[in-house]
Amino acid sequence: MSVVDVVALKIDECCVSFECPFCRTSYYKNGQPRINSKPHLHIHGSSRDTSNRVIERSPHCNLIPQRFKPNIDCSFTFRITIDDTTIKS
Ligand SMILES: [Zn+2]
Repeated sequence: MSVVDVVALKIDECCVSFECPFCRTSYYKNGQPRINSKPHLHIHGSSRDTSNRVIERSPHCNLIPQRFKPNIDCSFTFRITIDDTTIKS
């Protein structure tokens, strides 16, 4: 199984979030991302641990409701790095 590396944007006692390299916040009807769309944030549990580390989570890319989004092959794992650039709260 392949691995996709991302860096966490934010982490707290509940959750860790990161900007997905595949999913955008909005799409045109033809399935192309809108010009002013942003990366979609995916949120996973943080196991109540906000320390710097690397965790692996299965993707949520096909769970978000985006009717026109091209299907993404979810047979990969996100490797999420939590480092000093991650916002902690
Ligand atoms: Zn995604």
